[in-house]
Amino acid sequence: MLLDTPVTSVPTPLTDARRQLRQALNILEYGDDVFEMLVTPRRELSVAVPLRTDDGTMLTLRGYRVQHSLTRGPAKGGLRFAPGVNLDEVRALAMWMTWKCALVDLPYGGAKGGIAIDPTRHSLGELERATRRYTSEILPIIGPDRDIPAPDIGTSEQTMAWIMDTYSANVGYTVPDVVTGKPLSLGGSLGRATATSRGVALVAIAALEHRGIRVEGSTASVQGYGKVGRSAARFLADAGVRVICVSDEHGAVHRAGGLDLDALDRHVDMHRTVLGFDRADALAAGDALTLEVDLLVPAAVEGVITASNVDEVRARIVVEGANGPTTTDADERLAERGILVVPDILANAGGVVVSYFEWAQGRQTYRWSLETVEQRLRERMTAAWNEVLTHSIRHRTTLRQSAMTIAVARVYDAHLNRGLYP
Ligand code: NAD
Repeated sequence: MLLDTPVTSVPTPLTDARRQLRQALNILEYGDDVFEMLVTPRRELSVAVPLRTDDGTMLTLRGYRVQHSLTRGPAKGGLRFAPGVNLDEVRALAMWMTWKCALVDLPYGGAKGGIAIDPTRHSLGELERATRRYTSEILPIIGPDRDIPAPDIGTSEQTMAWIMDTYSANVGYTVPDVVTGKPLSLGGSLGRATATSRGVALVAIAALEHRGIRVEGSTASVQGYGKVGRSAARFLADAGVRVICVSDEHGAVHRAGGLDLDALDRHVDMHRTVLGFDRADALAAGDALTLEVDLLVPAAVEGVITASNVDEVRARIVVEGANGPTTTDADERLAERGILVVPDILANAGGVVVSYFEWAQGRQTYRWSLETVEQRLRERMTAAWNEVLTHSIRHRTTLRQSAMTIAVARVYDAHLNRGLYP
């Protein structure tokens, strides 16, 4: 048994990530020794994050940082604040980051981190103290040449600013490149905030065209209305797609003629949820996944399309804005049913691509224009889409198998070239 994961029949992000790696290595005809080497994270840090709350009591939180791979460059990956964050989830997310960075050919390995905390139940002051303490606990393993965090679920530009400040105060000089997804005033990149969503919309449109579906007037449902889902819905609508449903953790809103996203955004800015938006019908949160649409964009959390609901999915194309939204069992079933799945490591790679641009701009101490950022993002995403599609047609594999095979081969090739020390 590898690592210390309990044997379970219920798929988890980690069991799914391992199965995907196993499948890619089977296609590449590599053996168990390669699997063990590639599945094992290089470094894992588990830390206590003691937090003094506003009322003076002390709460001891758990925090993690996993560096899955350092072979192609420094580790890169998001930081998640959510109640369910645990070491195995972070391991899976770190592994997916390795493949994602390799697929879009960034000079990075993969990492992920998080604190088991519900950010909606804490004041800004408490979140700042938790972030700063977590940063000082993981300080020995992060840095612009070691491991560069970025925002994920429950974290923001503000979180990145606190990390950058804590790191800089500890080393004694300003180090903007220790994080990406920073505010513009601290060296953030133009176009970073919407980069993941731009990439999602770009590959979604390419997938529609590939399937011969006219973009103008096609329909979409978007699960999750946070950093990724909200702008993805907007970019799809801008391209002529009718976004008929969006959801968040509290519920879904639906309008067959297409949602008025301007009005919805005003509602969400005021109420922090799509629930109660009166220019649409209310649906249960899960209904966003099962509507008859051309395009389904799960952009919330992992493990939402599972063996138990996969047969209710009636989309023609699934574009994974979230990481790991489809379990491997469900993924096989979607393929059997002829539903095209654009995998997470391709579909949501736009965020890390522009994080890389932010890091590169930091190293040059030179800001690129928005046009430059967006054009280079488009080039990278289009190249990756074309490479994965061509590979999948040539080898008769799913887009996920092709994306994984390309990425894993790239990482293993780097291992071979570096050799095994000592
Ligand atoms: P976020 O915290 O900004 O938004 C998450 C959204 O999902 C919220 O609207 C929340 O209400 C909703 N949600 C949570 N559980 C839900 C459920 N069961 N049903 C419906 N909605 C639910 O997070 P984000 O940054 O938008 O990240 C979303 C996903 O995209 C995650 O899987 C993340 O790892 C992935 N991702 C994010 C980025 C990025 O740049 N932010 C990049 C790549 C991948």
